[in-house]
Amino acid sequence: MSDTVRQDQQDQQDQQKLESFDPATGDVVGVHAVDDAASVEAAVARARASAAWWAGIGFDARAEVLGQWRAVLTRRMAQLADVVHAETGKPHADAQLEIGLAIDHLAWIGAKAEKVLGRHRVSPGLLLANHSASVEYLPLGVVGVIGPWNYPVFTPMGSIAYALGAGNTVVFKPSELTPGVGVWLADSLREVVPDQHLLQTVIGWGETGTALCRADIDKLAFTGSTATGKKVMATCAENLTPVVIEAGGKDALIVDEDADLDAAAEAAAWGAFSNAGQTCIGVERVYVHEKVADDFIGRLSERARAVHAGVDAEAKLGPMTMSSQLEVVRSHVDDAIARGGRAVVGGPESVDDRFAQPVVLVDVPEDSLAVTEETFGPTVVVNRVGCMDEAVEKANAGKYGLGGAVFSGRRGAEIARQLRSGMTSVNAVIAFAAVPSLPFGGVGDSGFGRIHGADGLKEFTYAKAVTRQRMKPVLNLTTFERTEEQDTLFATMLTALHGRASQIGKRPLRERVAAVRERRRG
Ligand code: NDP
Repeated sequence: MSDTVRQDQQDQQDQQKLESFDPATGDVVGVHAVDDAASVEAAVARARASAAWWAGIGFDARAEVLGQWRAVLTRRMAQLADVVHAETGKPHADAQLEIGLAIDHLAWIGAKAEKVLGRHRVSPGLLLANHSASVEYLPLGVVGVIGPWNYPVFTPMGSIAYALGAGNTVVFKPSELTPGVGVWLADSLREVVPDQHLLQTVIGWGETGTALCRADIDKLAFTGSTATGKKVMATCAENLTPVVIEAGGKDALIVDEDADLDAAAEAAAWGAFSNAGQTCIGVERVYVHEKVADDFIGRLSERARAVHAGVDAEAKLGPMTMSSQLEVVRSHVDDAIARGGRAVVGGPESVDDRFAQPVVLVDVPEDSLAVTEETFGPTVVVNRVGCMDEAVEKANAGKYGLGGAVFSGRRGAEIARQLRSGMTSVNAVIAFAAVPSLPFGGVGDSGFGRIHGADGLKEFTYAKAVTRQRMKPVLNLTTFERTEEQDTLFATMLTALHGRASQIGKRPLRERVAAVRERRRG
């Protein structure tokens, strides 16, 4: 065998293997065979073969299986946390936290799926009073899930568990950085149901993801960056495959003048620095009322100085999982300072070739990269505002709209509702993600569609509507034998039912709205 042939064969073998690394040390922690398009299609075909069985066993049996899986995950939580720690570098306790939240969502799904999706009767309305009407939400079949690396259990499980709970089978492509976590998840469900393909993992880079988008799936749930989300959507459009896009964020935390500043600083520190800032719903910006800004910045800075990234026992933050992100973090800090912002904790020197230490930037111009683009590192921008309207306007100015938080004594809920984002916590941070009955998802460049909660279950179904005629109609509208007399009767009925609004049409809209409000209050 010539050297060139040997080298070609070696290259081919290398191409078919994907290694995962410990980002703190660079050590290889796993080697996985890569799935090409044919292998992805085979996985989808297996999932298809199991889909009818899984859909057919009904809610109770599915709840039983998901309950057993939950028990496996709970009893083996430490083992799964080891894999998450090895591939992402995050502290073991943080890995356990994300697994625990995923387990809690699984419990909710088992308990609620039938109530949310099962057949229920709805009113047929007056025109079709001789019918009964019902709606139920049926599984789509096979759902493809593409996930990121930052919360490699909690984030994809938001799609995987809800798709399974709705009666679909799933083929999951984890991030190239966390393949071992994906394999572990699929293996753990296989322990409960060994002879069916409820959840399979396919491994690889972007091409494997593209192959999953092109395969014979019924929906694709993507979580990752906005840029990749657009590519995924374009590929899925080839087959008119519907998508859920959970993309990036640039969440703001707002601090009102009457807020509990200690609680706000604590939450801002956790929201900005935990998981080394690699959190889609992390706090990247703070808008604080100018009357309390210095006090707040002092309290936040104290907390920022108290945590550090490293591998020592005291380190609360791990390394940056994806090393290329370090350059993004550094460039955002540099840009903020070059444009006149100030670093009150850390600075450009806080970023080395594996770790990023907390950075607090203040008074940063609103057109800086650190304000407009997702940084995805342990940095936070704190800007002063004169009033809460200004805070809301600035928080809403960006292209993203994922989550957010408000700290306020009296106006928390009111301010929260004005934020253009899918989710907001009042006097807490990231709380909404841990409430299984709440939908999770964003607007704008943060994507569309919802995981979690009733909306998250329905996302992986289609609505099936059925009417049943219970008795002969008084007025049969769908016949060629309809008489003129019946048409007149129909017109009279319509006027009685819907014509009243036109009789007050001459009053100005403002007056009519006020009258309706008055009636409702009364
Ligand atoms: P990426 O967009 O880089 O990757 C996401 C997934 O898509 C990975 O599995 C990736 O594979 C895959 N992929 C890459 N290219 C393609 C392609 N052309 N077709 C199909 N799939 C492809 O995101 P990251 O993994 O870097 O995750 C970080 C991002 O995720 C951040 O922007 C963060 O805000 C966002 N995120 C959003 C969340 C939300 O719920 N809204 C939650 C968590 C994170 P590979 O890794 O092999 O390249």
